[in-house]
Parts: sequence; structure tokens; C-alpha cells
Amino acid sequence: MCPVSEAGTDALERLRLTASTCTLCPLAKRRTQVVFGVGSPTADLLFVGEGPGREEDLAGEPFVGRSGKLLDRLMWEEIGLTRAECYIANVVKCRPPQNRDPAPKEIEACRPYLAEQIELIDPRVIVTLGNFATKLLLDTTNGIRELRGQVFERGRANLVPTYHPAYVLRAGGEAMAEMRADLIRAKRLMTKEPR
Ligand code: URA
Repeated sequence: MCPVSEAGTDALERLRLTASTCTLCPLAKRRTQVVFGVGSPTADLLFVGEGPGREEDLAGEPFVGRSGKLLDRLMWEEIGLTRAECYIANVVKCRPPQNRDPAPKEIEACRPYLAEQIELIDPRVIVTLGNFATKLLLDTTNGIRELRGQVFERGRANLVPTYHPAYVLRAGGEAMAEMRADLIRAKRLMTKEPR
């Protein structure tokens, strides 16, 4: 590992430690633990979901439930990567109770953690999973149905919006095929020209 990425890895670990005691929003009161993120600190590919559910809150790791199993399968089948080879994070790092949507104030309070994760990991491609991650990172009110199928520039990365795997589990068929197509698009962008 080169010294630059070593420094980034240390900084990411420091950020994880800071986040682990965060009390910036009310979600802190009811969480079991902060679900910071998982994977390689030098990943070329970053997935961003919405927020931890019950299983993630207990395990301390993003996407370990049914949605996560689908994400793991699709990333392996379409990109040939395991979760250890990419990085997976969420918009909010603590579980919203009853799996409700994260509130705007909670998203705002947590936003600097995700921003710094992106800065430190410096991925080539960011795949946003569903509306919350897509709207936050593209700073738009447009919905995922409108945005998916396209590629956006976001800083040094290309951003590929796709459906949240929980939606694909419910919708099946066409949504699954579209998510697969989005992941193939992400794979192609990862191997494009050097930055
Ligand atoms: N859904 C998400 O958006 N993130 C998780 O970590 C799990 C389920």
C-alpha cells in the first residue's frame, strides 16, 4: 500500500471511532451501535444505502439482512466483487426506529460522516441504492426512477444511481434486470481510463 492510502486508511479508522460515540441526532438514543460501513478503505467502488435496519443495528454491519444478501449476489454476479473488495456505507449510520425513513434533520446531522468517507476512500464509482442516497449525493429532488440508467459526475467519482435492493426484492422482474444493468454500467466505469 502506498503511504497516501495508508494515511487514508488510518483517517477512516479515526473517523469510525469518532462516529462510534456520535450523539448528533436523536437516533443515537435507541441504537445498539453505530453502523459505520464495511469493506476496503481503498475500494474503487462504493455502495451507499439508506440506513441500518434491525439486523444491521445488531450486527454493526450494513446490508446483512435479505436486501444485503441480494446486494452481495448481484455485485458478485455482475461485477465479480465481494463486499470485502468494495465499500458499503449508508446515508445515516444509526437505525431509524421501526425502520421508518430517516428524517431530514438526521440525514443532515450524519451527512459529514458520509462526505468524509467518500473523500478518504476516493472511489472511482459510487453506486447509490435508492432515493435517499441518490437525492443526497446528487443534491436533487428527482426520484430514482427518473435518474437510474444514467451516469453522473460527482467530484472525482462517477455516480451510478440504482434501485434499493429492498425495492428489487418486492418488485422483482424488470427492476432486477434494471439493477443488473446498472451494476454492469458501474463495472465498465471502474475499468475506464485512469484518473
Ligand atoms: N438497508 C439499507 O439501506 N442499509 C442497510 O444497511 C440495510 C438495509
